[in-house]
Amino acid sequence: MTQTPLSDLGEFGLIDRLASKFEIKRSSTLKSIGDDAAVLDFQQKKIVVTTDLLVEGIHYNLTYVPLVHLGYKAVVVNLSDVYAMNARPTQITVSLGISNKFYLEAVEQIYEGIRLACEKYNVDLVGGDTSSTPNGSLIAVTAIGELVSDEAVYRNTAQTGDLICVSGDLGAAYAGLQLLEREQEMFKSDPTMQPVLEGYEYILERQLKPEARKDIIELLAELEIVPSAMIDISDGLSSELIHICTQSKKGCTVYEDKLPIADQTKKFANELRLDPSVFAMNGGEDYELLFTICQEDYSKLKNNSYISIIGHIVDTEAELNLIARDGTPVKIEAQGWKNFNS
Ligand code: ADP
Ligand code: MG
Repeated sequence: MTQTPLSDLGEFGLIDRLASKFEIKRSSTLKSIGDDAAVLDFQQKKIVVTTDLLVEGIHYNLTYVPLVHLGYKAVVVNLSDVYAMNARPTQITVSLGISNKFYLEAVEQIYEGIRLACEKYNVDLVGGDTSSTPNGSLIAVTAIGELVSDEAVYRNTAQTGDLICVSGDLGAAYAGLQLLEREQEMFKSDPTMQPVLEGYEYILERQLKPEARKDIIELLAELEIVPSAMIDISDGLSSELIHICTQSKKGCTVYEDKLPIADQTKKFANELRLDPSVFAMNGGEDYELLFTICQEDYSKLKNNSYISIIGHIVDTEAELNLIARDGTPVKIEAQGWKNFNS
């Protein structure tokens, strides 16, 4: 593969080249890449803004994460935050820090992933910044979205008796990460080893190519359900339940046997002799939606295969319990992956 040093293009040559592959899709984008700032026109709409920083060695490991996937995921994690406000994403900006070990072709792969995400979720790339770093890389994405129904859904508005719902299944992305790490360790001890990943395609995809739940936000709108509170699951279900309950000054009861867990997640957890429920509660990066609905909306969701009702909100603040399969209550504590822990 050709390896073109970035110094051949210079910063502006690089930006022009990356930007040339992106088309404007949104009527709210008046001015995109190329001036001092983008200009957006949202007319009467309210907008949401969110940003996420991904740092090499902390959030991603380039020894096993393909660059296209990295670009895709950097966008998706931000869009997930926009959907979690019950908003629709419209534009993103992407800022990139890269060392001179990156060639043009590598940066283009990252941007190919960014472009694929922009296509899939119908958002415009409207700006960013580019800098070299002494070593390592980082990607910061900012996403902008608009509120369609005018009302954002916050974390702090869950009510006593509300039903707690999650989309999709939980713990698979964490299982995929454990699998990749295990195979990398094996490779380190014996470089002739080929990774054994067959039968684990689903958990790998959940780790490497997560999706934001655009479909769930659209489904809720179709069913005329406005969640009473919502958050996306990036740090694990426990951690997000704590956010909703603490901010709403409530507690919750969640049932272990209601946790949605995919077969491959269970199979891999069993292989490691670990409890799949721990993956579901504490694994991160699911990018599913956790939301609460009032009881009157139960009939609209009860047989929906994309959504599991896992428990309910209780009045007593700080009483957060997982009811184990045998009926014992276990206090829910944040084991969510913490950035600044050693
Ligand atoms: P400034 O000096 O005003 O910061 P730049 O030269 O950094 O401007 O950027 C020129 C244009 O290119 C701006 O529209 C900016 O938003 C955009 N841009 C810069 N870096 C990136 C990037 N990595 N991805 C997308 N757009 C970028
Ligand atoms: Mg700049």
